[in-house]
Amino acid sequence: MNFENLNLIEPLLKALQQEGYTTPTPIQEQAIPIVLRGKDLLGCAQTGTGKTAAFSLPILQKLYKTDQKKNIKALILTPTRELAIQIGECFEAYERYTGIKHTVIFGGVNQKSQTDALRGGVQILIATPGRLLDLIDQNYISLKSLDFFVLDEADRMLDMGFIHDIKRILKLLPVRHQTLFFSATMPPEIEKLANSMLTNPEKVEV
Ligand code: AMP
Repeated sequence: MNFENLNLIEPLLKALQQEGYTTPTPIQEQAIPIVLRGKDLLGCAQTGTGKTAAFSLPILQKLYKTDQKKNIKALILTPTRELAIQIGECFEAYERYTGIKHTVIFGGVNQKSQTDALRGGVQILIATPGRLLDLIDQNYISLKSLDFFVLDEADRMLDMGFIHDIKRILKLLPVRHQTLFFSATMPPEIEKLANSMLTNPEKVEV
């Protein structure tokens, strides 16, 4: 199995080659086709499995094939600043030949550079919950055009007390969007949250 077999487009294949990736990891092999088909995904996977590429690559591919207007089309919600930065670095590498842009927002720092980046226009937003809601409340961000919502590390989100923020954010999403839900563990409360967010999801476990 290689990335060509997954029907990825040339701009992504070129970027992957540059990164030195030759073989998809199991989660990538399983999840990429599901996301490309437009299905919701429930992914049970830890960090280190390659899950970031498993959701970033098909999202970039779908955005490349649709319009390239600078509205926010994909939101990746993640619990910590470190994870947000890491995911941002992945998008930086994978989007290189697509013309698609992302930005990363998180709390604990001045918001000016983040709002400047948003003003420049991005299709992909990687965010921690608190700062996202802050910037939404200040009208710097609209999620009205969103097509893809990724909830990363859902179990950690709940452990960190983000459930109310997540519920507020969910209410702001358009009715029709594709949801990708990732968690390392699936205790009952995570399963309940997943069920409330996903429509006929396909499950991937690694
Ligand atoms: P993640 O689980 O998304 O945090 O990824 C873990 C690490 O594996 C990251 O440093 C990625 O750059 C790397 N990685 C992801 N997919 C592949 C792949 N198919 N081949 C080689 N390295 C990869």
